[in-house]
Amino acid sequence: MNHDELNIWSKRAADWARDYHAGLRDRPVRAPLVPGQVASALPATPPDGPEPMEAIWDDFTRLVPDAMTHWQHPRFFAYFPANAAPASMLAAQLANAMAAQGMLWQTSPAATEMEQVMIGWLAQAVGLPEGFTGTLHDSATTATLSAVLTMREQALGHEGLVKGLSGMPRLRLYASAETHSSVDKAARLSGIGQENLVKVPTDTSLSMDPALLDAAIRADLAAGFRPCGVVLCAGGTSVGAFDRIGACIAVAKAHGLPVHVDAAWAGSAMICPEFRPLWAGVEGADSVIFNPHKWLGAQFDCAVQFLRDPGPQVRTLGLRPAYLETAGREEIVNFNEWTVPLGRPFRALKLWFLIRAYGLEGLRARIRNHVAWAVEACNALRAQPGVEIVTEPSLSLFTFALAEEAATAALLEAINDDGRIYLTPTRHRGRLVIRVQVGQFDCTRTDVMEIPATVARLRGV
Ligand code: PLP
Repeated sequence: MNHDELNIWSKRAADWARDYHAGLRDRPVRAPLVPGQVASALPATPPDGPEPMEAIWDDFTRLVPDAMTHWQHPRFFAYFPANAAPASMLAAQLANAMAAQGMLWQTSPAATEMEQVMIGWLAQAVGLPEGFTGTLHDSATTATLSAVLTMREQALGHEGLVKGLSGMPRLRLYASAETHSSVDKAARLSGIGQENLVKVPTDTSLSMDPALLDAAIRADLAAGFRPCGVVLCAGGTSVGAFDRIGACIAVAKAHGLPVHVDAAWAGSAMICPEFRPLWAGVEGADSVIFNPHKWLGAQFDCAVQFLRDPGPQVRTLGLRPAYLETAGREEIVNFNEWTVPLGRPFRALKLWFLIRAYGLEGLRARIRNHVAWAVEACNALRAQPGVEIVTEPSLSLFTFALAEEAATAALLEAINDDGRIYLTPTRHRGRLVIRVQVGQFDCTRTDVMEIPATVARLRGV
């Protein structure tokens, strides 16, 4: 295929995309197929010669869309959303067309400078005070790993990178059990080790108990361990738990520890000032992650990490081999030094298009609707006999269950086989519950009220 043909096929792809999105409500949300079905329809060996584009296209339309779980379906209420607003999809298309690498300022000046400006826009949008800077990552997992590696190096006087961890003091990292598994992954990959990730118990509000955080740090110091940092949770994945950010940061700071806040999902909601009390005190954090690719509408991938001072992270992750030197431009930001991978796509373009095309007010209106509709759906479920709301809405996320675990599991299976809506399970305090999150970019109140309607229909109540 050459670029003239690409132009023709791109138009066809754009038409297909429009029809696909227009027809989503007629499709089951979760792919109704069994493992191996797609693989068995594909040839086991690659073609030696070129195949006609028409044949490739036909196979795509025949094999792929029906075998997808439709994340942009307006009745996708599983996990967290992976919203892709049309304006950000368009930006992604343009970034793909240029296909540039933004590892250094000089390899993509527009990508670097737009990223700096977008970080500033987002920091203002979520109400962070002046002074925060930051970077874009592929995912919250990578951002949290970067923050934890930085904590490790700060605790080791930046010697771990060079000398390795053997013979180093035993480091300790603190988080609550409500934090995402990416924190466990960061503890493992950083060499701190799972056993040194201290899961501080939560109180009845599901926040890490600041007094128990303090006690855990003191006990570790007395045992000769070296605390290296605290990861706080602002909107946990399971049931949307929030740590009391200000109180926990105060404890961490009293011990001189850096703090990273994981607001991967809930960070988007902070563009609405009325939700900001949920993460009150966040301005004291050293690092904050949120994923515009979840609720805000920036097509995956796009995770923003705000940094109070990028110095320690750049010192941890940055390397300047001779082939990356940029003579005379050393004062310029070279974003590869702020993140794990060297290569990086032009993610900021997706934010620029998104924020301009909808405006912060347009994005706020969606999030406010999602929260209000989640509460309405939750109350409608609560009114059904036998349904127990196990965790109340945290922004737009709540959980419910039936009295018997087997009945809850059977209901969830029936819901997802039905296909009209898609929900996923979690465990809360050991109990199997059904999670509901409302946040798909195009969902309407009618789509959301399909949740209690489907549950009632399947239960025959
Ligand atoms: N943190 C939280 C609270 C999450 O909910 C998730 C994913 O759902 C992550 C981190 C990991 O996000 P990512 O897929 O961007 O690595």
